[in-house]
Amino acid sequence: MRIVLLGPPGAGKGTQAQRLADELGIVHLATGDMLRHAVATGTELGRKAKAYLDRGDLLPDQVILDIMGEELDLRNSGEGFLLDGFPRTTGQAEGLDALMAKRGERIDAAPLLKVSEPELIRRLLGRATIEGRSDDTAEVIHNRLAVYTRETLPIIEHYRGHGILIEVDGEGTTEEVYQRLLHAVRNGVT
Ligand code: ADP
Repeated sequence: MRIVLLGPPGAGKGTQAQRLADELGIVHLATGDMLRHAVATGTELGRKAKAYLDRGDLLPDQVILDIMGEELDLRNSGEGFLLDGFPRTTGQAEGLDALMAKRGERIDAAPLLKVSEPELIRRLLGRATIEGRSDDTAEVIHNRLAVYTRETLPIIEHYRGHGILIEVDGEGTTEEVYQRLLHAVRNGVT
């Protein structure tokens, strides 16, 4: 199964994605984790990515599409994958469609985790204290939410147009949200 997990920063994508991928027997590919790892290990990509991450801005589409093209070649076992944090722009969504077409594959489901803005801000500020992520400061959080609204919201319509968008309530306990997500991807668009 090939899944694109959608939702704003703080919606809980990272928390849910690994468990969901494990349950479905597919790989979890998270662009944010890849980029933070590149920064931490000081690779060329990491040096380039750091300023974008620190500001909460998106890296250029082509950089991300090159990385994801390589990752899909290396890690897409044929069982499928769960993408987390990608695509984030219309250009990336179209680029992903092209990557899929080239491989004779297609995305099966695009669950969207929905969480209200005050709850998102509360969660992101809470995470800043616990995890110490450098992009979880009030100013950068504000920018990431603005970038999400401007760049990423339009791709919801892209997947709705493909008939694979599934809206999932992202509020409640982690377990409740997980069960809703699992049900959504197993049962498809209802
Ligand atoms: P969030 O929890 O805010 O959704 P992520 O961990 O997914 O954050 O991503 C952290 C940062 O990594 C983003 O703010 C952005 O700078 C960069 N990034 C991650 N994925 C992408 C992408 N698909 N395109 C461009 N930049 C990205």
